[in-house]
Order: sequence, then structure tokens, then C-alpha cells
Amino acid sequence: RAKNQGKNRVQLFNQDIADTLDRRQLIEQKLNHTLALQTFELAYMPILNTQTQRIEAVEVLLRCPHLSAEGIGPDEFIPVAESTGLIRMIDLNVIEQALERLVYYQREFGYQGRFCINISASQLSNDLFAANVGSLIYRFGVDPSKVEIEITETSMVDSSQKSMELLGQLKNLGVRLSLDDYGTGYTAFNQLLDYPVDCLKIDRSFVNELGKGDGERPPVVDIILALARWKQLEVVAEGVETQEQFQYLRQTECQMVQGFYFSKPLNQESFEAYLTEQVSLGKALAS
Ligand code: C2E
Ligand code: MG
Ligand code: MG
Ligand code: MG
Repeated sequence: RAKNQGKNRVQLFNQDIADTLDRRQLIEQKLNHTLALQTFELAYMPILNTQTQRIEAVEVLLRCPHLSAEGIGPDEFIPVAESTGLIRMIDLNVIEQALERLVYYQREFGYQGRFCINISASQLSNDLFAANVGSLIYRFGVDPSKVEIEITETSMVDSSQKSMELLGQLKNLGVRLSLDDYGTGYTAFNQLLDYPVDCLKIDRSFVNELGKGDGERPPVVDIILALARWKQLEVVAEGVETQEQFQYLRQTECQMVQGFYFSKPLNQESFEAYLTEQVSLGKALAS
């Protein structure tokens, strides 16, 4: 009996692996398909200034309709895109679409903020990446200072010569750089000194713990804000979900916030409605 049970367990285990492989295959197939048909979509998430509560930037987030229909979002499909190498094409696709939209929203809606675009860690070893971004910026004629590239802190852990070179090349294009999900990687504080970044995005796990501490130690958010002040970096707190979290961040002079408390990622149509409202609000405030 014991032997049989062992065998069943092995079968179950094999079944799990098979399911995982099926799922990965499904994701890969849908990603290829979406890339070929050019049917990736973008979602737009406002980033607000804590003092004025007005829109300062927008984070562009990738959406794959064929996969979201199956309940699969970027947290699951991006790693598959990375392991298959598809991510290089996908990221460029996103940048191209985002720049085209940025120009459009500037022209048609009077949008004046930045567009923040995520890139995968694997671009850090892609020799052509900066040149590709440069030619897209040139093609659309966008002001590079309105473009911000987000790189996750975890991807900077090795901080090889090559990654540092790439960051330098991007800075030379005039774009802004930010370290995403800051605090979850293990970059030493002194290492941060070497990165040519403009902004830290505090990971939402630290925003989430605000107000839940026992007062025994300072919130991680405070430590990151002190570090940023000392390095003269801007800060965005991610994942703000409550009024209390927002009040805290505003008082501690965190410049920017983003999260469900203000807005979920918006599809194109909702984003346009949001922009119209914001722009007329701005005009009303200015006049
Ligand atoms: P991220 O860059 O840290 O993006 C923020 C993620 O947190 C988004 O999830 C957003 O919906 C979610 N979020 C923001 N505020 C809140 C909040 O208040 N509460 C909660 N619960 N969640 C919040 P999303 O869109 O699923 O993206 C997940 C990750 O996928 C992104 O994390 C980013 O690392 C990656 N990603 C998204 N688009 C792209 C892309 O175009 N290229 C690459 N390489 N990666 C991307
Ligand atoms: Mg991001
Ligand atoms: Mg993040
Ligand atoms: Mg993330």
C-alpha cells in the first residue's frame, strides 16, 4: 500500500508539472499570436502629485486581451515572455505604442505629464536597446524628458558593467530612469549612489504595512524617503489603497503617489475621459 501511495504521489506530481507546462505553452502561443496580430493593449495608471493631487505622470501597463480572458495577467505572462525571449520584441512594441499615444494625448488633450514605461531586466544585456529607444523617440519627435523608463530593482542586483553602460546610454538620450519595486531587491544603499536614476518607486508591500506597525521600528517607507532626500531623488509610492496611507505619505513629503485609492489602471476610453476631466480642471484652476 505504502508503495502504491508513493506512486500516486509521483503521478500527482507529474500531473502538476504537465499542467504547468501546458499553461506555459498556452501563454507562449497566445503571446506569439498577439505579437503577430499586433493586438497588445495598454492600460494607463495615473501618478499624482501628493500636494496638488493633480496628474504628474502616467504608468503604461501592458495588457494581453487573449490572456486576460483566461485570467492571466502580466505578473504571470511577463516571466514566460522573459524565458522565451519574446519580451525583447514585446517591450519595443509597448514603447512604440506608448510614444505614439503620448504625442497624441499631448496634441489632442493638452496632456503635459510624463509617460512611464516598464522594461524587462533582460534589456539590460541587449546591446541594441538604447539605440532602438533612441530611434523611436526620434521617429515620434517626443521630448525625451517626458519619457521615463522603469527598471525593477531586482534586475539591478548584479549591476554589471554592461547594465551600468546601458543606463548611461539611456540617460544620454535624455529620458528619465526610475527604480521600480524599490526595497524588494537587495541593492546596497551605497550601490544606489552609482545608479544614474531620477526616481525611486517604493514597492507597494511597504505602503501596505503603513499604520500596521507596532512602533518598534520606523516604517520602511520613512527609511526610503530619507535615503531619497539625501540622494536628491524623486519618490513615487506605489499601491496606495487607503486615505490613511495617502495622508501619511503626504505628511512625510513623498512627492508622488499611485494606487487604487486614486485610480485603477484605465483602458484607453476611460483614460481619455479622465484626461478630459483633469485638463478642464487644470484650466479652471489656472483661470
Ligand atoms: P509594476 O511595474 O510594479 O506595476 C504596478 C502593478 O501594481 C500593476 O499591475 C498595477 O495594476 C498594480 N497596482 C498599482 N496600484 C495598486 C494598488 O493600489 N493595489 C494593488 N493591489 N495593485 C496595484 P499589473 O498591471 O498587473 O503589472 C504587473 C507587473 O507586470 C508590473 O509591475 C511590471 O513589472 C510588469 N509589466 C507591466 N507592463 C509591462 C511592460 O510593458 N513591459 C514589461 N517588461 N513589464 C511590464
Ligand atoms: Mg512599473
Ligand atoms: Mg512597481
Ligand atoms: Mg511589480
